[in-house]
Amino acid sequence: MNPFKYSTAKQPSDAVAMLAKNDSAAFLGGGTNLLDLMKEHVYNPSEIIYIGRLDLKAINQTTTGVTLGALANNTDTAQHPAIRKDYPILSRAILAGASAQIRNMATNGGNLLQRTRCSYFYDISMPCNKRLPGSGCAAMEGFNRMHAIFGWSDKCVSVYPSDMAVALSALHASVKVLQLNGAERVINFDDFHVLPGNNPEKDNTLTYGELITSIEIPRNNFASHSAYIKVRDRNSYAFALVSVAAGLEMEGSRIGAAHISMGGVAHKPWRALKAEQYLQGKPATAAHFRKAAEEEMNAARPLSHNKFKVEMGINTITSALQVAHKG
Ligand SMILES: Cc1cc2nc3c(=O)[nH]c(=O)nc-3n(C[C@H](O)[C@H](O)[C@H](O)COP(=O)(O)OP(=O)(O)OC[C@H]3O[C@@H](n4cnc5c(N)ncnc54)[C@H](O)[C@@H]3O)c2cc1C
Ligand code: SF4
Repeated sequence: MNPFKYSTAKQPSDAVAMLAKNDSAAFLGGGTNLLDLMKEHVYNPSEIIYIGRLDLKAINQTTTGVTLGALANNTDTAQHPAIRKDYPILSRAILAGASAQIRNMATNGGNLLQRTRCSYFYDISMPCNKRLPGSGCAAMEGFNRMHAIFGWSDKCVSVYPSDMAVALSALHASVKVLQLNGAERVINFDDFHVLPGNNPEKDNTLTYGELITSIEIPRNNFASHSAYIKVRDRNSYAFALVSVAAGLEMEGSRIGAAHISMGGVAHKPWRALKAEQYLQGKPATAAHFRKAAEEEMNAARPLSHNKFKVEMGINTITSALQVAHKG
């Protein structure tokens, strides 16, 4: 690890002002991703600004939904009674990630900003456009079993790893940030993470120095018809090959609206819009669930080592819809 300066911020405004003074500084939340990146020399900030003492840990129910503090940890968020009752897919998605020890440390803001687990990104001897723009993409012709099947570019085929974010996408959350000038802005979750295009070094639409202060989730009426299913190589401590968060707004036996997002398939949580559209107004039957899944996955563009993800995606969407419908 390279030497770095360590500071502690006491107020959100201090944190932002401290970062503004150094163009190679980073906020430190739980450190479960940042420290690994630093130890592997993937990311070498000259200053770390610890934000864990900021008063941004509350989880509050409001008249319109719930607000998650950016510094609340993943365990407290997943176990919060209001989250378990009204947003169970979020609770399940968080608990499907990492390990209990990591979830105790991981913060909600840090979770959204965790970086890809592409092994070439972590290996500084390999070309990687995300780590070193212009150096190439080792995964394109390399071992790309864990990689994207939607939305990739010839510059980067990595996937975004967060489970929590997949649920937040299906829940239509938004992210509140504090800017350098002290103003706040709110980013719709679908606009928060980005596809790689020509700039895979960018994972999201935050600009340097912005601090995530909270995540806002609107009320929904599909809590009793929702599911999160994660398919992975082992049952714990593994990232998703494919995951699906699904919520169904039922109108009698018909589906009023479906809310479906996928993980493990793209550079951002992938909204399954084709499946959602197909299901709208249809009777909730096994045949329609499978057809909706096929509609979505027909557009996939698998790589040399991950063709299996297409069939896996069909099966996982179908299962998630069945579990959500059963309630
Ligand atoms: C072995 C292992 C297995 C894992 N498995 C999974 C898994 O299966 N599923 C899953 O979803 N995750 C998994 N994770 C990832 C884990 O969830 C993340 O590392 C964690 O959520 C990151 O949160 P943090 O607070 O520790 O972030 P940090 O490491 O502190 O920060 C991450 C990044 O976010 C920035 N940052 C942090 N907070 C803010 C803020 N409020 N505003 C602006 N910038 C901020 C930091 O500067 C840094 O760039 C795993 C991690 C490990 C080590
Ligand atoms: S897929 Fe993306 S992160 Fe992985 S080597 Fe290619 S450019 Fe780097």
